[in-house]
Amino acid sequence: MMKEIVPSPPPLVHNQFEFVRELFSKNVVPSYGRFDLVFSHGAGSYLFDVAGKRYLDLGAGIAVCCLGHAHPAITEALVEQSKKLIHVSNLYFTEPQGRLAAELVKRIGAGKCFFANSGAEANEGLFKLARKFGHAEGRFEILTATNSFHGRTLAGIAATGQDKVKKGFEPATPGFRHIPFNDPAAARNAISPATVAILMEGVQGEGGVTPATPEYLLGLRALCDEKKLLLFMDGVQCGHYRTGRFQSFQRILENVPGGEKFLPDGISMAKSLGGGFPIGAFWVRAPYADLLGPGTHATTFGGTPLACAVALKVLEVIERERLDEQARKLGEWFKRELERLAATYPQVVKRARGLGFILGLELVEKEKIPAFAASNKTAALQFVNRLHEIGVLTIPAGTQIVRLLPPLNLKPQEAGEGISKIEEVIKSVA
Ligand SMILES: *Cc1c(COP(=O)(O)O)cnc(C)c1O
Repeated sequence: MMKEIVPSPPPLVHNQFEFVRELFSKNVVPSYGRFDLVFSHGAGSYLFDVAGKRYLDLGAGIAVCCLGHAHPAITEALVEQSKKLIHVSNLYFTEPQGRLAAELVKRIGAGKCFFANSGAEANEGLFKLARKFGHAEGRFEILTATNSFHGRTLAGIAATGQDKVKKGFEPATPGFRHIPFNDPAAARNAISPATVAILMEGVQGEGGVTPATPEYLLGLRALCDEKKLLLFMDGVQCGHYRTGRFQSFQRILENVPGGEKFLPDGISMAKSLGGGFPIGAFWVRAPYADLLGPGTHATTFGGTPLACAVALKVLEVIERERLDEQARKLGEWFKRELERLAATYPQVVKRARGLGFILGLELVEKEKIPAFAASNKTAALQFVNRLHEIGVLTIPAGTQIVRLLPPLNLKPQEAGEGISKIEEVIKSVA
């Protein structure tokens, strides 16, 4: 048989970077401020761009890829479950959704779960739960914290305590008011006859890596009990073992008198829940678990067998490999190193923030760092860009905070590489 002469394909892209950028600028809504990086694949704690350059990923897709990239257990769960069943409607039952709900309940407390597809949507469910709870009495108002972040839907931006997400989208969805974070007296003073719930992050993420104090959490619980309010925790970013415990309030209240009895009435989850596969959820405490009855709340893709099989696998790997302990121990080491950098280079670093694997390096004001002062970019952004140049990914938060949200299975030598590269950037601007 004659060998067919196949013309060689056009060189795929000699400059894939420009090619992809062009596709975006022509076809993708420019709603994100993106860095000039185009990634093609990942392995473990590393990502590779289209030119083959390697980056240590200390951002993990903003606290999403909790097992790093291309984890074989996730691949296997995706492949095996997709051969059996990807989706049926929530008109029917499937085993993975029931099992995942049971695993979440086991890690939190008596209650039930609803499955969605994102953090914003998980919070939306909690908002509806609160409105249902207060409806007969005409109560609907939800208090959230200044500097909080709760998602980008219309109710999400109303709940979020940051003006920059609200601007241009007025009128705001009614029923949300903000109170200063970690201030129990302010919460008490803010309650009106219409108030029905309080929603808080255990560790504010987007707002700059600020953990709630134990006194604040216990105070809010007592206040909510007294005033018949629901207490909700947004665990979308700080949850899923990132602090060393399943939920951040469990870590914050460890060894605190009365802390072991603390439970909120609702918890939203997403980000790490699927290890990169989209899934969100909320848990609601037992007395309120049947408030949203048949027909009151739904989403087509919520809790598909595929998403739930992956989420179950993620939990299994974390448990088997004791990644909770890993995040706690390595997180403590990381924090001490960041504190050392703050002590060694006070002209660049103000302080270290956070706990476990939700950490922040707070830089001094841009004007005080000569290498940064001239640019109109924030100090955080300029620092993150310099880390990109030497192959490390981190996430800016606010104007002065460089956020670290590594995969829970980050290796000690990778943590070491991260710290030495961070120190390299600090030295270069000090
Ligand atoms: C990311 C985030 C959300 C929103 O989650 P999406 O999946 O982007 O909708 C909500 N709350 C917190 C605390 C988050 O970090």
